[in-house]
Amino acid sequence: MANRDSSDFGPLSFFKAQHKAFASTLEQRRGQAGLIDGLLVQAWDSFDRNVEIQAEDMPPLACHKGCATCCTLRVTATAPEVLMIGRYVRWSDDRFKSIGIDLPTRIAEADTITRGLDETERVALRRRCPYIDDGVCLIYQVRPLACRGHASYDVRACVEAAAGRTAEIPYSGPHLTVRSLVQNAMQSSLRDAGLAFGLYELNHAVCIALQNDTCCEEWLSGADVFAAASVTELSTEEMEQTYDAIRAS
Ligand code: SF4
Repeated sequence: MANRDSSDFGPLSFFKAQHKAFASTLEQRRGQAGLIDGLLVQAWDSFDRNVEIQAEDMPPLACHKGCATCCTLRVTATAPEVLMIGRYVRWSDDRFKSIGIDLPTRIAEADTITRGLDETERVALRRRCPYIDDGVCLIYQVRPLACRGHASYDVRACVEAAAGRTAEIPYSGPHLTVRSLVQNAMQSSLRDAGLAFGLYELNHAVCIALQNDTCCEEWLSGADVFAAASVTELSTEEMEQTYDAIRAS
């Protein structure tokens, strides 16, 4: 994946290399709070580096600072991402409150309205993500891979889709593919390490993280602390079968 000219380093090899790197981080930082940072810095770096290479000859993206057109979609995230965002929201609370933003309350209100809605229902609701302020993502540095992998070549198509007039958005293939491979490799390595590896709806999961001071320790000990926020379109068994099939290939 990293070298576009190399015919023997395609998506499968990339997934396996990513899985090995995440497994190594898990082994070195097992049981430590720094595991979350180690996994995510690795995921974000790998995503950025490989998207840059894969998108080298592609047209420029329409995405830019201040455009939050797609930030009405349902966002899913892994447990390390939820824990990182929960920590960031706590740490930033005084700073945000000093400029009139009560982020925990916003997240709780969004969760009350969006809990249990599937992806289609969320699009129809057209409610903005609670992290958006004046067109800017307040948690940009720690936003989930799902948001990083969502990039478009045509802002007009995004606006039409957000208004429910079309579903045709020219998304960036490299962003979608690299996000999927990196995220699935991380989930697969979490599973091998005996940690909860599911995908969770972001508003609900972050509410759980903000209400539970020990959720990081509980997750590190193997508990599925965000189970109530699990997205159900893909079962745990289906995810496990997919990971096993990729690694056996
Ligand atoms: S987390 Fe940030 S980038 Fe993702 S949907 Fe919300 S505002 Fe947009």
